Amino acid sequence: MTTLRKLLFWSVAVLFPLPLILTYDFVSREPELLRLYIFLGLTAYSWWLLAILLSVRPRWVGRCVGLPSVYGLHGMLGVLAIVLAYIHRDNSYSGSRLAGTLGDWGFYGALCLLCYSVFFMSGWLVDRVSPLMKLKRVAEIVFRHEVSVWIHRLNLVIVAMIWLHAHLLVRVNQYLEFMVLFDLYTVGVLSIYVWKKWIAPDRYLEGIVVGNESRGGQTRTISVDLGRAVAAVRPGDFFFLRFEGAGAYGREWHPFSATDDNRRTVTFTIRQNGDFTRSLADIEIGTRVRLEGPFGRFESIVQKQDKEAPLVFLGMGAGVAPLLSMTAAHHTSRDIHLLWAVRRPEDAYYRDELEAYRAASCDRLQVTTSVGRFRRDDLDGLISPEAVEKGAFFVVGPNPAVLAHQRLLRRMGVSSRRIHQERLTM
Ligand SMILES: Cc1cc2nc3c(=O)[nH]c(=O)nc-3n(C[C@H](O)[C@H](O)[C@H](O)COP(=O)(O)OP(=O)(O)OC[C@H]3O[C@@H](n4cnc5c(N)ncnc54)[C@H](O)[C@@H]3O)c2cc1C
Repeated sequence: MTTLRKLLFWSVAVLFPLPLILTYDFVSREPELLRLYIFLGLTAYSWWLLAILLSVRPRWVGRCVGLPSVYGLHGMLGVLAIVLAYIHRDNSYSGSRLAGTLGDWGFYGALCLLCYSVFFMSGWLVDRVSPLMKLKRVAEIVFRHEVSVWIHRLNLVIVAMIWLHAHLLVRVNQYLEFMVLFDLYTVGVLSIYVWKKWIAPDRYLEGIVVGNESRGGQTRTISVDLGRAVAAVRPGDFFFLRFEGAGAYGREWHPFSATDDNRRTVTFTIRQNGDFTRSLADIEIGTRVRLEGPFGRFESIVQKQDKEAPLVFLGMGAGVAPLLSMTAAHHTSRDIHLLWAVRRPEDAYYRDELEAYRAASCDRLQVTTSVGRFRRDDLDGLISPEAVEKGAFFVVGPNPAVLAHQRLLRRMGVSSRRIHQERLTM
């Protein structure tokens, strides 16, 4: 079912450019080969627009296929659009010099932004090649996430350049019906983007900080009272948070997972990695918080599992947060084995809470905490053959660790279908 949903979701990439292509095909009188290259250019343009549309994180799409899939398609559209734009640019000619220049600048600009975003904003390379990750960490002293977000937004300028490029080309602008549709696409997408990013934030959830405690030295738990129980909040969900009225805390939204199953006061476990998370030590009780979300699919996956199938939660560091939330919700009704790997003994700051859940679970909850990563030998000894055969696995942590554990579980015989993961970078 999930695969079908994802397929349907990805098919949007095929459907989205079709009205533009079919309309141009219907109205234009250009030679067939040239028309093909124009189709490629139109597809690239509409994929850029679709990528912009996805970047507003529609919540219902996030619930349906998961936000990582939304960002996955967003990134893939950027890559595929560049390939098509390259073929389009290499094989078509332009009567207007300005149109040609704009097309060239648009192409090279998009290529540079793509390389930048792949390196700084996706885990495609850095999560798999550790020297690149080290390089990224050094470069992030200057190119912090907030800076990267603004650099990434230059894609809007690229879209404007390509829009003007199309308007200057006689072989395109002479067809009124087509141009009306082309402009409707552009104005429609950009209006939704501007609306969602800058005009409509008042629809986000609001809360007040009611707790801010240090845990184990490098982590904090921050509790936010939403003023009422919010039915949409489910175990394992995450939100994008923004602390109001405090410029120093950054204006960007940062994602964090709920740590328990309380729908009124949501508690976040936050590892203090960088500028923003370190500044959270200064957040005062009473600070207003905006929350975008909730997002997440863990609970709906749990609900679809056979009730007798064991749940295996594997959390690394602060990645335990959503798993703890699911443990809170299911420790009395499901067989759960929670495995938590921490860097130092003092990082196992949830020992008491876990012991309380275990004591209340009538032996349904098993907890294993490890200082240092779980290796293959550890997991062989800890995970029962029954769990390997039919359990549902949830792995959460930093990207490289999640990828490594996914591979390990597959080698142990766990089918990929039963491994669900959340990585702590998008
Ligand atoms: C779905 C999801 C759930 C998460 N849940 C938790 C959690 O429960 N607890 C926890 O400690 N951490 C969680 N994280 C990670 C957390 O969002 C980042 O560690 C935090 O935003 C880093 O901010 P910083 O500026 O202090 O650190 P930096 O050192 O500036 O950033 C560290 C890395 O975090 C990423 N990052 C930074 N800012 C953002 C942002 N605004 N949006 C997305 N990624 C960003 C970048 O890849 C960067 O390389 C989660 C991440 C995701 C994607």
